[in-house]
Amino acid sequence: TRYLCLILGDQLDNNSSLFDDFDPQQDRLWIAEVRVESEQILSSKQRTVLFLSAMRHFAEWLKNKGWSLSYYSLQQQMPDFASALHDALLQHQPKTVRCVLPGDQRVLQAISEVCQTADIELQWLPDQHFLSEAGQFKTWLTERKQPRMEYWYRLLRQQHNILMDSSGKPVGGQWNFDKDNRKAFKSSGPAKVTPPPIFKPDAITQSVIDDVSRYLPELPGQLDSFNWPVTRQQALQSLDYFIAELLPLFGDCYQDAMWQHEPFLFHSRLSSSLNLKLLNPHEVIAAAVDAYEKGQTPLNAVEGFVRQILGWREYVRGLYWSYRHDWLTMNALQASRDLPQLYWHADTPMTCLQQSVSQVLTHGYGHHIQRLMVTGLFALLWGVKPQAIHEWYLAMYVDAIAWVEIPNTLGMSQYADGGIVGSKPISPAVPILTGCPIIARAARLIPNRPAVTRPVRLPLYTGPLWIGIRTCSVIIHVLACK
Ligand code: FAD
Repeated sequence: TRYLCLILGDQLDNNSSLFDDFDPQQDRLWIAEVRVESEQILSSKQRTVLFLSAMRHFAEWLKNKGWSLSYYSLQQQMPDFASALHDALLQHQPKTVRCVLPGDQRVLQAISEVCQTADIELQWLPDQHFLSEAGQFKTWLTERKQPRMEYWYRLLRQQHNILMDSSGKPVGGQWNFDKDNRKAFKSSGPAKVTPPPIFKPDAITQSVIDDVSRYLPELPGQLDSFNWPVTRQQALQSLDYFIAELLPLFGDCYQDAMWQHEPFLFHSRLSSSLNLKLLNPHEVIAAAVDAYEKGQTPLNAVEGFVRQILGWREYVRGLYWSYRHDWLTMNALQASRDLPQLYWHADTPMTCLQQSVSQVLTHGYGHHIQRLMVTGLFALLWGVKPQAIHEWYLAMYVDAIAWVEIPNTLGMSQYADGGIVGSKPISPAVPILTGCPIIARAARLIPNRPAVTRPVRLPLYTGPLWIGIRTCSVIIHVLACK
């Protein structure tokens, strides 16, 4: 064998750089389902079935091309990547191992170590899935005192000519329409839309469900409502549905809203397909911009959506790799408590938390505001160890992969990074919520409550935001230590 080409569970990219000079006569592909990625690195039932089913479907696609593939399934009981890779190296004696840059520093290290021990050349190939080029973020970062998503986003918009007019200005005369995107629902609740496509489990997905019940029965969460795209075709169907039905309401209506018994609202639910690389961000952005250019969708909705993918998604990825060796030891607020048990069963009288956690158990999903302002904020106020809340987010959400989950959780949500990801050390909701008697009363209902236990009335700051938020973080910290 010339090249042994590794395809990881989040690299199901039909345009992968692995295929650029793949020669089926001399090269072989490798995919492995390994127990450690679900058990030791905990992964919920929804997330595990999504990954494994998408991997098995991708393997079918590769086999239909007639390409040789070593596929290690759960039944082979490979404990980890290292064992499965070691086995393939012994069997096929490749001259070189190739892999696209993984989305997790831990996996990168594991693969490097196996190849080093076996004394086999290892080539990391560029990840063509993202819009920013290799090294671009690092250069950008070194040129500024503090990274800010907004400026990174503007740079990429200009570079890729997305929503720019012919004179080089942003379409509509503004970079950002955030202020138009924060409407609240009327008492009648959200508008009703056509329901999303249903992806009934086919034989492959069913085989994964059976394997998970057999080999990994203890994983958290439920599978009854499993409905995630597991093939590129299904992911494209979800994209079409989002563009036609939800995008027109994505911005204007309620990007930041929540409503009881409405787990998805107008959010795209495309993150898992994007992160598994069933969808390419270029095509998702192009579809949204096209809807604007055809007059089907207002600019504020399209710009708001594009900013999530071109801005936030590329930005957190850059930050993940820039601080990759530091993230898991960050704890700027020195939070030290365990994760409350309610995160595993949603049994709590606090309605926002009950709703946000129970839908993670049933769907493996929460939209951004639920993650940031409910599950994340509560953990922050409770003083949960960053590592513990990180492990929960990584386990429970179908779209969770280290490069995106870690900066969002440790940085944006928990402020463990001391303010790298966000310009605000703590979400502006904190002063409001810590002063809110409802949250404080609800917190009292939990036995052995450790951290925020009584109503704390904080003044609403009108002065410089930084000073206000900074003061709040100190107050919260003092409370948490009481
Ligand atoms: P939409 O609201 O429809 O947004 C469109 C797309 O924009 C998303 O699919 C996603 O690809 C991208 N996007 C939006 N916000 C972000 C962001 N902050 N960072 C990166 N991409 C973004 N996102 C993940 O993909 N995986 C995670 O593991 C993850 N963990 C998170 C943990 C916390 C504590 C927080 C606060 C956020 C996390 N996010 C994560 C970001 C965001 O919440 C999800 O991307 C989004 O909710 C996915 O749902 P959607 O596809 O319906 O998104």
